[in-house]
Amino acid sequence: MELREVKKRLEKLPRVQLGFFPTPVHKLEKLSQELGINLYLKRDDLSGMNLFGGNKIRKLEYLIGDAIKNECEYVFTFGATQSNHAMQTATACCKCGLKPILYLESIISPDENDVRSNLLLDKIMGAEIHILPEGIDLMKEAQKRIDELESQGHKSYIIPMGGANEVGSTGFVGGYIELTEQLNEQGIKADYIFHATGTGGTLAGLVAGKKLINSDTKIISVDVSDKTVEHYVNVAKLATKTLIRVDSTDAIITDDINHDLNYFGEGYELPTEAASDAIKKLARTEGILIDPVYTGKAFSALISYVKSEKVEKGSTVVFWHTGGATALFAEKEIIGNLCN
Ligand SMILES: *Cc1c(COP(=O)(O)O)cnc(C)c1O
Repeated sequence: MELREVKKRLEKLPRVQLGFFPTPVHKLEKLSQELGINLYLKRDDLSGMNLFGGNKIRKLEYLIGDAIKNECEYVFTFGATQSNHAMQTATACCKCGLKPILYLESIISPDENDVRSNLLLDKIMGAEIHILPEGIDLMKEAQKRIDELESQGHKSYIIPMGGANEVGSTGFVGGYIELTEQLNEQGIKADYIFHATGTGGTLAGLVAGKKLINSDTKIISVDVSDKTVEHYVNVAKLATKTLIRVDSTDAIITDDINHDLNYFGEGYELPTEAASDAIKKLARTEGILIDPVYTGKAFSALISYVKSEKVEKGSTVVFWHTGGATALFAEKEIIGNLCN
């Protein structure tokens, strides 16, 4: 399918403007030279809309668009206490006059007397916040509040963790088209795209976008937590549902997905030495900040692929900066060792 045709189909879907798109894409000259590749950064960390952007804004443009179309008043979403997605959802709700309600899982326990990072921003945004212990079914808890609001005549919109459904993933079909147009204008073809994957919503959208325009760029999705085979069956289904939303009859199977479980270390929100090194490397050679939970781990994978020549010297590689730098101001268990 032509890029123009995909854009035409995307334009038919409900959407609100939240971020500043297209986000920049630019070459990292010094690091390119050091690694022996042509390394570009796609700056979704600069998506807007508050001071701290990130990949969820693309998804939220469609999700909040859908919430407004459905005349909802409240928006429920879910994540860890330091969830970037929850913070960006709260921000989007403020702009659009919706009321955010967050159900957050306490993987790393926040200190109520020293509220930091995204949780602090959620509070500034005035979100209704429910913090629950790790392992609790957040949706089941939220359902009680949803029912209560409904009995009072208020309609709620439910956004899953990470905004990972076919409405949200549509944002990354748009993202894939956007990047392709930017690279085309500069006469560049990407051999590889590296990005961090959590819920899989971003991955599903990127793979769907790639399929639609029949691109042969290899997408390497770096897991930030342990995932089952079943998770990836679901991500493939999500990508297929995303294609249906733009009237495509293509399907995505798990073989279309290249993901790597070797870089998350001990688990979600737990720092790795390689990610700490990657954060310092990017800061000290290019003056750019990435984060310990997502982009640091993904960037550590990129460096390791180049060093082991899984990515051939001279390749053109785009690293998708999905944001997350607020984690640099989170609890010390999340940050890791960045001060040496
Ligand atoms: C949420 C998030 C991701 C992962 O996106 P998914 O769509 O959940 O896979 C990557 N990087 C950052 C900074 C994020 O906040």
